[in-house]
Amino acid sequence: MPKNQSHLIVRRLIINRIQPIYVLLLAVLLLAACASTAPTAVDGKLIVVSTVSPITNIIYNISGDHINLTGIVPEGVNSHTFEPAPSDAIKLAQADLIFVNGLSLEEPTVKLAEANKKDGAEIIALGEQTITPDEYMYDFSFPKEAGSPNPHLWPNAIYALRYAEIIRDNLIRRDSANADYYNQNYDAFKVRIEALDKAIQDTINSIPEQNRRLLTYHDSFAYFAPRYGMTVIGAIQPSDFAEPSAKDVANLITQIKEEKVPAIFGSEVFPSPILEQIAKESGAKYVSDLRDDDLPGAPGEARHSYLGLMVEDLRIMAEALGGDPSLIADFDVSNVPGTDNQVIQPQ
Ligand SMILES: [Zn+2]
Repeated sequence: MPKNQSHLIVRRLIINRIQPIYVLLLAVLLLAACASTAPTAVDGKLIVVSTVSPITNIIYNISGDHINLTGIVPEGVNSHTFEPAPSDAIKLAQADLIFVNGLSLEEPTVKLAEANKKDGAEIIALGEQTITPDEYMYDFSFPKEAGSPNPHLWPNAIYALRYAEIIRDNLIRRDSANADYYNQNYDAFKVRIEALDKAIQDTINSIPEQNRRLLTYHDSFAYFAPRYGMTVIGAIQPSDFAEPSAKDVANLITQIKEEKVPAIFGSEVFPSPILEQIAKESGAKYVSDLRDDDLPGAPGEARHSYLGLMVEDLRIMAEALGGDPSLIADFDVSNVPGTDNQVIQPQ
């Protein structure tokens, strides 16, 4: 990064008086500016920063390597409580476009982006442009009193397609020279998402009707369930992302027994010993590995994709609930532009 640009960022950080820790960490920050993997504009490509990996991957499916793309939230980290690092302020300050899920998922990152974005840069919240407030879902983990709706729109494939459409339109608006490329990729991605939507429905339809119920630890399927005819009968994780109380656990065990819930689903990102206890005492099967923002595999692998994430979840659900996982297991999960080696995405 040129020296004057570093100074500019530092001055902004001070002027905006964001948390004093960032000012104290100037030395670290400057070091990070020189040594980090932050994107640079030297190749003239649009600089795009996003937050969670499913969104980074949907962007990649439209953009390919025609932009410099950086995801900020490391995979396997709790995105709901993620606090960006000083080095993330540098990445956000360089971005032309910052895509976030919105719906309060990434508030600290959005605040940091607002305080540091350069002139002309834009923050685009995908969730708010996908559903209207009357469609917001609130539940045990995202109670209405707390004011933030359930933010997990992307497990609903049609909402993910809307994300892709918003991303395409913004990339074209900011980088019209590559409009044809972005349009072609979107069209190809749309075909895949529509095929995914159908494969998800076929897989859910193969699950016996009385088993089409989800009891999850992390509450990621609030918008998925109504689209595909599943019922979310509960989520275990309280709204503060702590462990549930003894009383909550006891109530859940009673509920699982009464409703004959066949399986309870844990999350890759939130391992919880309480789930094993609930499963043991209720007689339900414990399945530990659903995921909502941790893509399967590693960057550079074909299955490291939004499509891979959804196929993995559906395979797991079908296996646990008596459906036919073969209806989705062979779905082509690769990215439209190929593997994502060039995307900067912390693991
Ligand atoms: Zn989540």
